[in-house]
Amino acid sequence: MRNESYKRSMKTITGRRETALREAEERTTKVCFQVPRIREIQNQLQQTGGKIVKAVFSKQDSRTQIEQIMLDNIRLQQEQSQLLEASGYPADYLEVEYFCRFCEDTGYRQGHQCECLKKLIAENNALEFNRGSSLSLASFDSFSLDYYPEEGALHAPSSRRIMAEILEFCQTYAARFHQNAPSVLMMGDTGLGKTHLSLAIAGAIMKRGYTVLYVSAPDLFRKLQNEY
Ligand SMILES: [Zn+2]
Repeated sequence: MRNESYKRSMKTITGRRETALREAEERTTKVCFQVPRIREIQNQLQQTGGKIVKAVFSKQDSRTQIEQIMLDNIRLQQEQSQLLEASGYPADYLEVEYFCRFCEDTGYRQGHQCECLKKLIAENNALEFNRGSSLSLASFDSFSLDYYPEEGALHAPSSRRIMAEILEFCQTYAARFHQNAPSVLMMGDTGLGKTHLSLAIAGAIMKRGYTVLYVSAPDLFRKLQNEY
């Protein structure tokens, strides 16, 4: 499930990057036709990398040459911004507008997954989960305490109060869940809310980027048996 969600998420991110680059290219093409000087500037800017490589390997003072190339670059960019504004466009009109400016739609920042990728994986995990299960994810918000009687037996807390405490426990458990978190065992009659609460825990944990497997005990034992 994790692999599938990851693949889907990376596909979305790659798509976002391709769109951003394509749209920037389309803007450039359009503007270059309208303002020929911008085409010249773009051509010169594109040669920057090659000029730097040449400077590095030249026998003369590379540093001064590179500084000059960078100065020329800045001057060209300033001229381009002015030309764009004079033609009624924003100064940064030709910049690539990434969906996520933190990772520039690569999904990674300094070798770590970007928040945008984590969010997509969590969403895809939830979709995947709902597809593979006859149950759908529930949320804590839709858990109503109204069904539980407010009146309790003499000197005993009411069912509603007990459920309110259980609900709070489950919410805290999901919020603080980590790889080594202890297990939770829920016992009680049918219809008391065990399924709703466990699915709400699953949903909340998935939103935090974890993978959840929801199976009935007989199913799980059957699968394990088949493995051996
Ligand atoms: Zn990102």
